[in-house]
Amino acid sequence: MKPTNPKALPCAIFGHNFERSKTYMDHTSELICRHCEAVVVTDSHGNFENHTVVNSQIADTLQQLYRLTRHFPK
Ligand SMILES: [Zn+2]
Repeated sequence: MKPTNPKALPCAIFGHNFERSKTYMDHTSELICRHCEAVVVTDSHGNFENHTVVNSQIADTLQQLYRLTRHFPK
């Protein structure tokens, strides 16, 4: 798998570095990653809603990696 955005690689390993970029009238807010500029919107309960396909793929991959590293300890 080749990442479409090479800047996203550290994020896939270390996690995104989100900062709030917008707050909407309906108490949702938009967060943007300072590294890869991935945008995440929180709902009114503060839960993340991930709208970008690339990031959901990264999340799936991360989950698989996490399972693998748990499965094969050093
Ligand atoms: Zn990021």
